[in-house]
Amino acid sequence: MNLYSGHINHLIDELAALPGIGNKSAQRLAFYIIGMSPERVKKLSDSIVEAKEHVHYCRFCQNLTDTEVCPICADPARDHSTIMVVENPRDLAAYEKTGKYKGVYHVLHGAISPMLGIGPQDIRLKELMERLQDDTVKEVIIATNSSLEGETTAMYISKLIKPAGIKVTRIASGVPVGGDLEYIDEVTLLRALEGRKEL
Ligand code: ZN
Repeated sequence: MNLYSGHINHLIDELAALPGIGNKSAQRLAFYIIGMSPERVKKLSDSIVEAKEHVHYCRFCQNLTDTEVCPICADPARDHSTIMVVENPRDLAAYEKTGKYKGVYHVLHGAISPMLGIGPQDIRLKELMERLQDDTVKEVIIATNSSLEGETTAMYISKLIKPAGIKVTRIASGVPVGGDLEYIDEVTLLRALEGRKEL
């Protein structure tokens, strides 16, 4: 038996399809949204549509931005000869929050996972290789997570880049195995960065 109307079910289904939101949470959110004023609902839906319309990948680092080149890549005070490779924008934000890293980034938007059928062509690796054509890059710091996927990706990238004569380093394992960078405190992040080793 269907307890709710088609519209409510539709909203619940859409919310439940988002990552980290189970059926119960989706129901709770759906009821909350129905209870909101029409103005707030419009604001919420507009913000989703506008973000989708205006936010895209930075031409260089692939981070999310609403300008063609993100503020980090556009900043002449950053060290453009050092690129830190991270899996996702949240990891970039974690390092950025430390305020100590002065280089630029490259966001892969994923990691290689043979088990999930995610290959090198499914992450933004080609874009990284294109950036390395330019000989201003002296060091690539691989800061993928210390999960199996993160390590596989690090090894793959290192093999790809090293023949080009660019220094490739891997952040130290101060980061717990399987640990997501975004949940790790700033001191540990900085220690991992400072303790990086050449691959
Ligand atoms: Zn950028």
